[in-house]
Amino acid sequence: MDVRTFWLAGRPATGDSELPVTNPHDGREVGRYSVPTDAQVEEAVAAAHGVAKQAAALPVHVRAEALAHVARRLSERAEELAQLISAENGKPILWARGEVGRAVATFRFAAEETRRWSGEVQRLDTEPAAAGRLAYVSRVPKGPVLAITPFNFPLNLVAHKVAPAIAVGAPVVIKPAPATPLSALALGEILAETDLPAGMFSVLPVENERASALVHDPRLPIVSFTGSAPVGYAIADEVPRKHVTLELGGNAAAVVLADADLDWAAQRVALFSNYQAGQSCIAVQRVIVEEPVYDAFVERLLPAVSALVTGDPADEKTQVGPLVSEAAAERVEQWINEAVAGGARVLAGGTREGATVAPTVLADVPHDAKVACEEVFGPVMILQTAASIDEAYAMVNDSKYGLQAGVFTRSLDAAFRANRELEVGGVIIGDVPSYRADQMPYGGVKDSGIGREGLRSAMEDFTYEKVMVLTGL
Ligand code: NAD
Repeated sequence: MDVRTFWLAGRPATGDSELPVTNPHDGREVGRYSVPTDAQVEEAVAAAHGVAKQAAALPVHVRAEALAHVARRLSERAEELAQLISAENGKPILWARGEVGRAVATFRFAAEETRRWSGEVQRLDTEPAAAGRLAYVSRVPKGPVLAITPFNFPLNLVAHKVAPAIAVGAPVVIKPAPATPLSALALGEILAETDLPAGMFSVLPVENERASALVHDPRLPIVSFTGSAPVGYAIADEVPRKHVTLELGGNAAAVVLADADLDWAAQRVALFSNYQAGQSCIAVQRVIVEEPVYDAFVERLLPAVSALVTGDPADEKTQVGPLVSEAAAERVEQWINEAVAGGARVLAGGTREGATVAPTVLADVPHDAKVACEEVFGPVMILQTAASIDEAYAMVNDSKYGLQAGVFTRSLDAAFRANRELEVGGVIIGDVPSYRADQMPYGGVKDSGIGREGLRSAMEDFTYEKVMVLTGL
């Protein structure tokens, strides 16, 4: 089997060892990749540091053309990349195609946004003392970005860090997830076709210990991390003087109010609790239904859950595939069993076969069960009832996490109340919390993270405002 090269300062390279990547559905080896040596990691970081000034001064048309090229080539290679994502991650091909489409959109939007990315002029003569003075405010890259990404969207979450870095003129060192590095390495091939200067990007599939050394490296002043809360906060604590962005987990709630379209709500909740086997940071985990419509909602929900097609991710019809590993599926199974031992009722699923957990619906879950208060990251939802809108919103907030929440309602008043009261980074009215458009600001409060992604937000995050005052005008 071919061994994929990694990317060292824009060129392909091989180290002195290699590792396999396996498909969690059947354990089959789907690829191998070369692992950088310590000297190669050092070379990549030195190159990123060395090119930072040149990168910051790159003309807008060069950055925009590079980003547009990546979008075009991702689109041309869409099917191959979707197959790769599906094979290494176990993601159903249906969703893998969707992920490639989103990565194309992310780069396309970055190409547009970099053209709009200019400074502003502020008049300072608002006071007599500043008469004749004008400020030019521009945004300057803080320096090379260390991009650490998780396994669940192995292409688009890399795109969410690489595209804004290029858009602002910041070099980027990508550290992909160990289970799914092949998609990021394929993106490296496309980045290498651009006219970006050497050193502008590296893709280093290193293990966590060496990733941690990169976190501590002062030549990489920005750490843009997407992953789990314990790892993210440990990183932020280790390097308090660095700019650290954390996109972490959640146990997202969908609220179904009494005035909701119950057919729509049931379809959406069923799908997006199980979408990529629940391994999305905004998968529906807690479903909070107003009492008067609880029975009618559950009547619609259960057939929608049982209609989901579970199986081989390569099959066109599969909607729910395996989790990333059998160990991950065993953990989810244990959490279900713990809830059941505490009195929960299984309304659907609850079983596991290898790495696949059947779409699971639980009711009467104890408040302190892990499936209620931790992030399941599996195809499991818990049903809860609320006596009023106030109670429903309080239940959403009864979580250490706060990424996004969804509220099914037709009431403008309930929508604005949700926006005021829910302690989350995003409120989705009329749909599940799992909705994300790639250009919108995205991120959490509480234990769900620090900072925002989404093209414009990440571009702001990677830069600081710099003022030049012009005197004597
Ligand atoms: P993880 O925290 O285990 O790993 C994330 C990345 O961090 C991986 O690349 C891993 O190799 C690396 N890493 C681990 N230890 C490290 C260390 N000490 N130093 C530096 N890097 C280290 O997460 P995961 O299991 O890959 O992904 C699942 C998690 O990601 C879930 O909690 C999910 O909610 C979260 N997530 C969040 C978002 C978001 O945008 N908020 C999106 C997707 C996933």
